[in-house]
Amino acid sequence: MDNPEAPINTVRMEHESDILIIGGGLNGPALALALADQGFCVKIIDALPANARASDDFDGRSYALALASQRLLAALGLWDHLCDNSQPILEVKVTDGRAGEGPAPFMLHMHHGEIEEGPLGYMLEDRFLYRALADAIAAHPAITLISGRTVTDQETDATGATITLDCGEQHCARLLAGCDGRRSGTAQRAGIRRQGHDYGQTALVCAIEHETPHNGIAHQFFMPSGPLAILPLPGRRTSIVWSTTTEEATRINALPDAGYLEVLKPRFGSFLGTIRLAGKRFTYPLDLTLAERYVVPRVALVGDAAHGVHPIAGQGLNLGLRDVAALAEVLTEARRRGEDFASLSVLERYQRWRRFDSTVLALGMDTVNMLFSNDNSLLRLGRDLGLGLVNALPALKRRFIREAAGLAGDLPRLMQGRPI
Ligand SMILES: Cc1cc2nc3c(=O)[nH]c(=O)nc-3n(C[C@H](O)[C@H](O)[C@H](O)COP(=O)(O)OP(=O)(O)OC[C@H]3O[C@@H](n4cnc5c(N)ncnc54)[C@H](O)[C@@H]3O)c2cc1C
Repeated sequence: MDNPEAPINTVRMEHESDILIIGGGLNGPALALALADQGFCVKIIDALPANARASDDFDGRSYALALASQRLLAALGLWDHLCDNSQPILEVKVTDGRAGEGPAPFMLHMHHGEIEEGPLGYMLEDRFLYRALADAIAAHPAITLISGRTVTDQETDATGATITLDCGEQHCARLLAGCDGRRSGTAQRAGIRRQGHDYGQTALVCAIEHETPHNGIAHQFFMPSGPLAILPLPGRRTSIVWSTTTEEATRINALPDAGYLEVLKPRFGSFLGTIRLAGKRFTYPLDLTLAERYVVPRVALVGDAAHGVHPIAGQGLNLGLRDVAALAEVLTEARRRGEDFASLSVLERYQRWRRFDSTVLALGMDTVNMLFSNDNSLLRLGRDLGLGLVNALPALKRRFIREAAGLAGDLPRLMQGRPI
């Protein structure tokens, strides 16, 4: 939107697109590209002004993308712009421990050599991923972006959906895709209820520079107050996601950089030599929020709007991109067969494909967080033996590795590196 200050009007924009996507975070633009590449005419509405995320500076946020998600980005034509700035994840080490004590003797060690497909995944900074998506949607003739506008109302009828923006403008399409995050207004306005709970934890997120190379190894270190993920970025830099009690996170986050680093050091250990902060620090309060339905007539939910999960295994965006690939495939196939692609029976195919899978994963991460985020010595013994057992059983371990790489289950074609 060129001028967000423009006077409010109530002009109804005549039917212009097949699909209206609410939310221009990461899943919204990815869905727009996947659909537009199949000939759908798409419009994205995002509340943030166009230049809100335009900075080229590293702000400390990054994602662990599973191998299957990387394939999706490649299929959308984005990977050539991203690969130089990505870091392959070659190994993952999962350990249990207490601050200052070092890791427990049992460990789950996943090595990319144990699967044929390649690295387990890639680390990618938010600025590069967001920019690649933004550039691609700006260049695509079948995509229109309206930024700096909030959707305040939505209505559906037998033929499609109409949304109203905060400026009074209306837009309609045959289908509404809610990619508007954990507090999805699209879901709320559609009467879709949510289940979940607050973890009482907050994630402290930052990046650090360090003295010695990380060799592409990611670490998941379970501490009594919550998990600490140490994830390799290009160069001698590493991304930290440390989930701890909200009380502790608030206290630590209030410290100046030097004090923050001092708290981090004993938890982090000395295996990367001297460390210092690179970029900004962030906090994210953590909750589980699962939509009871992913679809209702003329509306589908995608990404965090459908399932907001614990960041324990870095799966949130990976789940969202799987939704993107599945929804694009279901809609494309329906239209090829001459069906109304936005009909409920078609949308329910998407729900059947994705809802069970996402819920199982979300609840799995919920359980892992519960089992590991405490100092009960019996549980500690049990989980350490569990890690050791998985590590010792090659078939089970290979299954874990394929899950981590996003290769398990019924993969949509874009995630197999094939066209729809
Ligand atoms: C600490 C942390 C670490 C994480 N690490 C990883 C990781 O390593 N790997 C991974 O796969 N995932 C990770 N995730 C999860 C990942 O960040 C999310 O799953 C992902 O960003 C969700 O993207 P989205 O596009 O669905 O939603 P969002 O990014 O929340 O985007 C929603 C968009 O909707 C817009 N919007 C909302 N309401 C309206 C409205 N009414 N009108 C118009 N626009 C609206 C907003 O402006 C926003 O741009 C992590 C999450 C956290 C908290």
